[in-house]
Order: sequence, then C-alpha cells, then structure tokens
Amino acid sequence: MVLSDYVTTFGQDLLQRYGERVHKITINAGFTCPNRDGSKGRGGCTFCNNVSFSPNARDHSPVAEQLQNGRKVIAKRTKAKRFLAYFQAYTNTYADVQYLTDIYEQALAEADIVGLSIGTRPDCVPESVLDLLASYKERGYEIWLELGLQSVFDTTLERVNRGHGFAEYKQTVHAARLRNIPICTHIIIGLPGEKRQHNLTSLERILELGVEGLKLHPLHVVKHTVLAKQWRQKEYQPLDKLDYISIATDMIERTPADIVYHRVTATASNDILLAPTWCNEKWAVLNGITTELHQRNSKQGIKA
Ligand code: SF4
Repeated sequence: MVLSDYVTTFGQDLLQRYGERVHKITINAGFTCPNRDGSKGRGGCTFCNNVSFSPNARDHSPVAEQLQNGRKVIAKRTKAKRFLAYFQAYTNTYADVQYLTDIYEQALAEADIVGLSIGTRPDCVPESVLDLLASYKERGYEIWLELGLQSVFDTTLERVNRGHGFAEYKQTVHAARLRNIPICTHIIIGLPGEKRQHNLTSLERILELGVEGLKLHPLHVVKHTVLAKQWRQKEYQPLDKLDYISIATDMIERTPADIVYHRVTATASNDILLAPTWCNEKWAVLNGITTELHQRNSKQGIKA
C-alpha cells in the first residue's frame, strides 16, 4: 500500500510520461523576494525563513555546479538519469527577463535536464516571463509554473503579510493558461485563523480557475520569523498531525484524478524547525494519508 495507489503523484506521472524516473534537483539562483526588499513589502511572510523551504537555500554556487551536486545526492538513492531543474528558493521570476533567460538556460543547457519548475509569487510573473516559459514549452521542455498562493482568503493573506491577494493569482493563472503553461499551486494547511473549511474552499476556488498540479504543505513554525514569536506568545497554535492528515485527505478526495500532486506534505530542517515537530516525520505523514485513504475506501477524485 503506497501513496501512489490512491493519489496521482508527480513521481508516477513523470515515470509514465518519460518511461523512466525523473527527479527534481533544487536550485538556488540567488534571487530575493519583492515581499522582503520593499517593492511589495518588508520582512516577508510571517512564516518565511527560506532555509525551511529549500535544502540548498544557503548554496550560491553556479547553476551547473548545483545540478552536479544534486545528481550526486540523487545517485546515492536512485538510478535516475534525467532531471527537472527546480528553481525553488525565494522568487524565481524576480529579475529582468534577460537575466532570467540566462539563468534558466544554464540549466537547460545540460543534456539530462528535461525542463524547469519555477517557484514564484502570483504577483511577480509578468507577460514577458510567461512568454519565455511558453517558448521553452514549445521547444519540448517540461515546464511548471509553481505559484505560492497558500490561501484564497485575502484576510488570511493579510494576516501572514503575504503582500498579494487572490486577485493577482487569478490574473496570473488566466495569463498562464492562455499560453498553456502548466501551473502547480501551493496551499498551506494550518495558516493562522484558518480551519478545515478554509482549505476546502481554497481548493475549490483553485480548481474552478484551472490547475494542473498542487502542493500541500503544513505550516511550519521556524526560527527567526514573526510566526515563531506568535507561537511563543501562544497566539498561534500549530495543527496536530492527525488533523493535518485528515484535512489533506479531504482535499485529495475533492481533487480530480487528472491533477497531479507534486507534494502532500513538507519537512523543514531540524536546526530551524520549532513546531509542529511531526513535520519532520515525512514518511509517517505520507503513510498516514495513505492509510486514511485506504480506511475510508477512498482515493483522489472520489468526491470531485
Ligand atoms: S513570498 Fe515566498 S520568499 Fe517571499 S517572503 Fe513570502 S514565503 Fe518568503
């Protein structure tokens, strides 16, 4: 009994489409974020310490070197020979398009790179960047635009100092869909002030607009963040593991089976994670979701 028996996982999707394992290699291309440098806001999202999202957030070596290091790490656990370059840390469309072209093409120049996954904010994807991504797709590359939305509720987005609302997401999705660029939207479970119904409504609105992929994350409380202070002052109470598993399972059941789950949980590194500590038990959470789907005699899409 494995997750992919019940959920359309990205790993299985790639395996079926490419006939072999394709792994993501994360890249830190040294971008910053408009919600940190003052152009959209200062201080960033209340939960953001980018080291928690990206294992190589401290790595500033050239793209080719990061890819080479990633290959070595992956070779220790799998025989994958083809890879997707995942620009993960901070806002990976936050530069002029010429610079972006240069950075992205450093990855695409490697023979074993099948494409790009670009993590960014919904308010930071101008038409010129979408045109660039569409041109790569037309050249046959696998392209994913990963949009960190987290919630469709503007009150929640304001509460976590996100610096954009749902309107920007709608606009970017519309423009990306006109160009047939696949979108993977990120949703956080356990945001301050949100309950199960908020996550279900977020999912519903995202599905209405159209999406090809989804990522679910538990909200991590990590060091050196506003959220860490709120947690210490007992103003924020993290979700427990069983609630997370139950909400994620509800969301999976309501997601059509042709939408690919790139992730249904996430971990943070031990040196910065404060709470909830179960976030580090990635396999326990994945097994918990699998077991929950099995016990409900359910699977992805059953309630879509
Ligand atoms: S948009 Fe992303 S990188 Fe920027 S502050 Fe928020 S979580 Fe951090």
